[in-house]
Amino acid sequence: MKMSKMYLPTLKEVPSEAEVLSHQYMLRAGMMRTLTAGVYSYLPLGYRVIRKIENIIRKAMDESGAQELLMPIMHTAELWQESGRWDRFGPLMIKFQDRKGREYCLGPTHEEIITDLVRDEIRSYKDLPLNLYQIQTKVRDEIRPRFGIMRGREFIMKDAYSFDTDYEGLDKSYQLMYDAYVKAFKDCGLEVRAVEADSGAMGGSASHEFMVLADAGEDEVAFCNNCDYAANVERAGAAIADPAFEKEEMAAAEKVYTPAQKTIAEITEYLNVNADRTIKSLAFLADGEPILVLLSGDDELNEIKLANYLNAVELEAVVEDKFPEMYNSFAGFIGPVGIKEGIRILADLRVKNLKNAITGANEKDYHLINVNPGKDFEVEDYLDLRKVKDGDQCPHCEGQLEIKAGIEVGHIFKLGSKYSESMGARYLDENGREQLIIMGSYGIGITRLVAAAIEQQHDENGIIWPTAIAPYQVIILPLGNNDEVTTRAEVIYQELTDNGIEVLLDDRQERAGVKFNDADLIGIPLRLTIGSRSLEKGVVEARVRKTGEEINIKLDSVYEKVI
Ligand code: ATP
Ligand code: MG
Ligand code: MG
Ligand code: MG
Repeated sequence: MKMSKMYLPTLKEVPSEAEVLSHQYMLRAGMMRTLTAGVYSYLPLGYRVIRKIENIIRKAMDESGAQELLMPIMHTAELWQESGRWDRFGPLMIKFQDRKGREYCLGPTHEEIITDLVRDEIRSYKDLPLNLYQIQTKVRDEIRPRFGIMRGREFIMKDAYSFDTDYEGLDKSYQLMYDAYVKAFKDCGLEVRAVEADSGAMGGSASHEFMVLADAGEDEVAFCNNCDYAANVERAGAAIADPAFEKEEMAAAEKVYTPAQKTIAEITEYLNVNADRTIKSLAFLADGEPILVLLSGDDELNEIKLANYLNAVELEAVVEDKFPEMYNSFAGFIGPVGIKEGIRILADLRVKNLKNAITGANEKDYHLINVNPGKDFEVEDYLDLRKVKDGDQCPHCEGQLEIKAGIEVGHIFKLGSKYSESMGARYLDENGREQLIIMGSYGIGITRLVAAAIEQQHDENGIIWPTAIAPYQVIILPLGNNDEVTTRAEVIYQELTDNGIEVLLDDRQERAGVKFNDADLIGIPLRLTIGSRSLEKGVVEARVRKTGEEINIKLDSVYEKVI
């Protein structure tokens, strides 16, 4: 590509709207432009990087056996109502109506759509396992869109969904995705760390986040200085607060997550498994007006054991006794849940007009009475109570935790039967019996990854692209007004291009200083400079962007040297 023809509007000044370095560099390097907060156009240079990353991820996904498809961005409300997330997703979801008044949203994620897609087609265990993925624009009306495409309101995500007959199958599908992610990030030339993430009611290692360590990151990650334990701070906090959270047996909790359909006998059976532990927390939904009580075990309720909660009548009595002002009739039962899950339920209920709630953790003074989540406290702030801090002890060994800032570029999650149950996605097993499909979901923030790559690899002059995702591998700078220089540069440009190397030729009538600065700013891995002096010596000057290493290459052997 010749730069004189390229739509590459670089900027010398740092744009005032950009707080973090990656955002500044992406605007200055002419990679993108802002339409409105969190919404961007990707210009040719930026879009090349995005496509490179997409293709690396696509390759890793395809090799894992996943199949690419493309689902709609426009979703009908009905599917989201079926899963119960139409209300729960809250203001993060952009909703609108068509001319007939029918309701839609712009997809923030695609669990509902994919579950709907497969439930009509998957008939038998022979159709499983299956993994379907797409690379597509997602829309989330983030409260604080900032840091450029790191947190956009419109962004490109790779999202994959696995379908298995059972949890063992899910474990395998999950591992395949984990491995594919490790490979894809490595192939991008990026250092990405997998850390345990909170898995809500699922327990076990049912979720991992993939983090690029960088100061600009909004996430905090705990690393042990002694063993290989790594987790986000919320997850590490939960592990310390309740080591049982770690245990496989907690996977069973998933089964009582949607208790409305559960019989008391089923709940009893589950609770008895854990009857030696006091209850960590319980949640109730009151008839009509949701009321939520998370009861904990270490304070005045310590004496109340699980056995007390085995039926609704006793349940009501306990609440009437302990929290008369909260008394109401109970319609549902959720739990035992961890504090984070409890808070999440609170947040979910916010949109359903939650009037009152008591929420508490498994610790004294961690209780709030009559709270209105979102009004009386920020859900996010409340989660802070359980985050681990620098120097806390590792949940796995005697070592100490060290906290680092990270950017979440990927997230994999064992969903279990959450969506297949609410949306009725079943298959027939070997014995002709109907069973729920067991699902997983797996995301990579592609546009966020571009910003994260810049946060990880740059210097004061600009971006330093790893070769695998660089928009061009080589940039040629002819200097001065010299016909022979121009001709030579053209010849080298042609030779490299013909051999499949992606080359930018800076044929603009600009001063050497401007060309050098732009080449550094846009971060092309290898720079070849030709001026009248180098021409006299019969060489081009090659400089490696990353190391600053410079060598002279004979004019007739540029291609051999470059490859
Ligand atoms: P975050 O915690 O940063 O809000 P998330 O946990 O809500 O992210 P997921 O639902 O796990 O995001 O989505 C999968 C991936 O999509 C994330 O790991 C991230 O890389 C990317 N992603 C999520 N939200 C955004 C956004 N607003 N802008 C850019 N990328 C995003
Ligand atoms: Mg989010
Ligand atoms: Mg997150
Ligand atoms: Mg996530």
